[in-house]
Amino acid sequence: MENEGPMDDRSHLAHLLREGDVLVMTGAGLSTESGLPDYRGPDGVRRVEPMTVSEFRAGVAARQRYWSRSYVGWERFRTARPNEAHRHLAALEKAGLFETTITQNVDGLAQQAGSRDVIELHGNLGRAVCLNCRALADREWIQQQFATRNPVFAQDAERARDLPLRPDGDVDIDPSLIHDIELVVCPTCGSDLLKPDVVMFGESVPKDLVAHCFNRLERAKSLLVVGSSLGVMSGFRFARRAAERDIPIVLVNTGWSRAEHLATRHVHRPLSEVLQEAVWDVLGDVDRDASGDRRR
Ligand SMILES: [Zn+2]
Repeated sequence: MENEGPMDDRSHLAHLLREGDVLVMTGAGLSTESGLPDYRGPDGVRRVEPMTVSEFRAGVAARQRYWSRSYVGWERFRTARPNEAHRHLAALEKAGLFETTITQNVDGLAQQAGSRDVIELHGNLGRAVCLNCRALADREWIQQQFATRNPVFAQDAERARDLPLRPDGDVDIDPSLIHDIELVVCPTCGSDLLKPDVVMFGESVPKDLVAHCFNRLERAKSLLVVGSSLGVMSGFRFARRAAERDIPIVLVNTGWSRAEHLATRHVHRPLSEVLQEAVWDVLGDVDRDASGDRRR
């Protein structure tokens, strides 16, 4: 399929969307245009070694480090806004061209853009979960609590706000800033084992959620993967299952993909362009009317 030109890919994608029952999977590449960095470079090499769940559980020092860095990063993460690619996907969903998006992103940007049926495979950074009692806590509340408990850090952290945001939503602050950090505790049980409600490295996606995704995949006529290299098994297994079912798999991302050998097409072009064309091809004037305000 290497020699297929962009027009051929474009027609193929439009065809699949018209056929219906596309299952859409999205990854970090979808949010890079919103200013949120990806774990991997275009070559597929992981640029960042994120904290694993066992490190996080193992000790207070790791949690102090995690929450300090994350406290600084959150402001930028929280203020990220959906980009054109998110909006095109939402428009296609709204028009009934597909139902479900399985996202590996933890930023909630698909929902902000208007997508309704979104399965968050890796959770959402806007919440925390207590590892002791499973209670959930709102992230904004945690930020406030953290600042109240650590006023000196909160003030020092202002200086670090312009450092680059990392894929975990944290910032690589000077370790000397992190001392005597008082952790926020669970509002229900008082434990300091509050973890962001995301699947950390070394952790598994909950079984019922995986089953739910496979269930959606069984009904799908094709799989469209947008902005994900499928580098981790939690996403890759869906491409493998789609290949077993022999349904078309279209990958849209600008770099490497682990599912290259399984795909019907691998479109190496900016996501917003590819999805814009799909919207034009499949929705045509309907969408131009519906979203006229945005284009004018
Ligand atoms: Zn608790």
